[in-house]
Amino acid sequence: MDLKKLIRNLPDFPKPGILFRDITTLLRDPQGLRYVIDLMTEECQSLTPDYVIGIESRGFLFGTCLAYNLGAGFVPVRKPGKLPAAVHTMEYDLEYGTDKLEIHQDALPVESRVLIVDDLIATGGTAAATAELVEKIDCVLVGLAFVIELKDLNGRQKLPEVPIISLVQY
Ligand code: 5GP
Repeated sequence: MDLKKLIRNLPDFPKPGILFRDITTLLRDPQGLRYVIDLMTEECQSLTPDYVIGIESRGFLFGTCLAYNLGAGFVPVRKPGKLPAAVHTMEYDLEYGTDKLEIHQDALPVESRVLIVDDLIATGGTAAATAELVEKIDCVLVGLAFVIELKDLNGRQKLPEVPIISLVQY
């Protein structure tokens, strides 16, 4: 299946000059949804994670399905102020300014095997900050998986040396 046919390209969103890769058109397609989750499951199976960490918010959509298929648990990494219990916070750079991500301090047992999932990797800043949160809670990062990778931005270079999976590259 050609996933690119199901991903909508929207010029000038959210800002002029940005070409946004819209995955809502992939999610709404019954065959496309099944295919993308099955493919991600197949590619990640050998990493044998105990838990999948999904990054807010589109990482939740793929991460939860993947965790279910892999027989793993699911843990959210969220924008600041959303998680109710005590959190670890990681600040990271955006094109202009900074942002933060949070995880519950007691989210996982120490030394759990963790797979990070998001819909897309661009500069890698979001995924790199999440990898640092995994380190903060003393867990073992076994890999990262994305539906889409924007190759020109070299996001992989920011990430730890673990398997990095992407299903569609631009
Ligand atoms: P990065 O931190 O790698 O530069 O940006 C990745 C994050 O921004 C991901 O959480 C992703 O959801 C979001 N993102 C950036 N550009 C796009 C895009 O074109 N399409 C989608 N679906 N998400 C994007």
